[in-house]
Amino acid sequence: VAELRERGVEVVDSVDSEDAARRVALASRDFYWYSPKLKRELRGMKGDALVVARSEEDVVNAAGVAARRGVPLTPRGAGTGNYGQAVPMRGGLVLDLSPMDQIVSFDARDGIVRAHAGINLATLEETTRAEGWELRQHPSTRRTATLGGFVAGGSTGVGAVTHGGLAEDGAVLGLRVVTAEPSPRILELRGRDVFPVVHAYGTNGVVTEVEVPLARAQPWWDGVYRFPTLRHAAKFALELGEAPAIVAREVSVHQSPTFARELAHTALGGMLRDAGAGDAHVVLAQMAKPSLGPALRLARDNDGDACFEPSRSEDLALGIPLYEYAWNHTTLHALKRDKSVTYLQAAMMPGEALDLVTAVEQRYGADELVQHLEVVRFGGRIGFASLALLRPGTDAAVAVDKVEEVMRWHEANGVPVFNPHTHVLEDGGMKQTDWAQLGFKSGADPNGVLNPGKMRAWEEGKATTEASDPRGSFSAAYRL
Ligand code: FAD
Repeated sequence: VAELRERGVEVVDSVDSEDAARRVALASRDFYWYSPKLKRELRGMKGDALVVARSEEDVVNAAGVAARRGVPLTPRGAGTGNYGQAVPMRGGLVLDLSPMDQIVSFDARDGIVRAHAGINLATLEETTRAEGWELRQHPSTRRTATLGGFVAGGSTGVGAVTHGGLAEDGAVLGLRVVTAEPSPRILELRGRDVFPVVHAYGTNGVVTEVEVPLARAQPWWDGVYRFPTLRHAAKFALELGEAPAIVAREVSVHQSPTFARELAHTALGGMLRDAGAGDAHVVLAQMAKPSLGPALRLARDNDGDACFEPSRSEDLALGIPLYEYAWNHTTLHALKRDKSVTYLQAAMMPGEALDLVTAVEQRYGADELVQHLEVVRFGGRIGFASLALLRPGTDAAVAVDKVEEVMRWHEANGVPVFNPHTHVLEDGGMKQTDWAQLGFKSGADPNGVLNPGKMRAWEEGKATTEASDPRGSFSAAYRL
């Protein structure tokens, strides 16, 4: 701490005062408590000091000191990750990147933006939208999360129906990365060279700048549709995602009685109740205005209907942005009402997604599992990311076993699980050593000081099996 302060870096040291200790503890948390398992495993873990990074020079200083002295260094954006990605498991320094929040360059002619890692996603998009461009994809935490945190800890979100996930080649154009070597280097990664750092939880370098491609901004509209069965709703959602003339940014399916039970307390829960659709199977869709007509006809083809007149997204007729009912916000609303609820993350691949929805419905009653499906383009074809809500009961030990049983059943029945109940990178979906990430780490973090405890292959000093995908992290693509 003294060395960093001498170099002009702001450090909040937990030994200085109660207030400082509180700040460090707060900056050591994320949303790991979503999982009953992680809640037990990570509770109380905290860093010793918080480094406030205001410039790349501050990052270089922190990385150099950490590497030279063998002190853990855990980068952090807004701390909205939900697997304990940003929890400093071995103490040391927490590196807050959020003060680094400027746009570095914005090509408004071709739609490319480069910004500091700590920039808030909503702030970034406000600037690009003023020139007619928007992010191709953002997590439902758009209003709080940072760009660097999304790239290092997230995978996809709103926009996945069209653009897939961050692991697609071209989703991230460039990264500027500070290594954790005694004399840190600054790397400019482009093309597929970005993959060892994308979704690596900050174990492979500290990202200081991110360059992403943009999409033409649309004046989006929100539609809410009701269906008599889950299969009708899921079929409509897949067809909506596939229809060539429909321009959609977000499509999600919510099995009954989600809006009459887990989300009954939300503004949309009340609106659906008033519209007589409280216990319907519901599809939420954000679309361009010309797509509203074809979407309604498609809903009716599937025995469904609109719950109310579509509204402009910016008018917030649903009380909050439509996307804050989707992705992991669905889980957050449910948890606010019932702390024993938890969730699953799994993929239902194109071609078989609809039958898998039915298989899950037949296996689990809605008292145990309610399906929440997000339409995602997997390598060009439409399928579902499943973020089902689980109701494993209030006994923590039983709940952990129950959740594991549900995950085993999914795996055994053709639904790959991207386990949200582990802080270990590989166990979240890669299930094998990512050679690209591991190889990169030996150069970028030779002393293993970056976010220790998260990359199993590094911890164990060995690789478990060979990765088949040269892009490395692709198989973890849909772990949020
Ligand atoms: P943090 O939580 O601060 O960090 C995430 C990881 O990245 C950590 O491992 C951290 O060490 C590392 N990191 C942060 N900044 C840097 C940096 N500059 N350099 C290197 N490593 C860094 N995720 C999705 O992908 N899609 C969703 O739709 C989605 N919805 C969510 C909804 C809710 C309600 C919640 C709680 C979470 C959701 N998430 C989602 C997970 C999370 O919000 C996103 O991944 C988010 O983008 C993380 O950003 P952050 O700034 O909060 O990162």
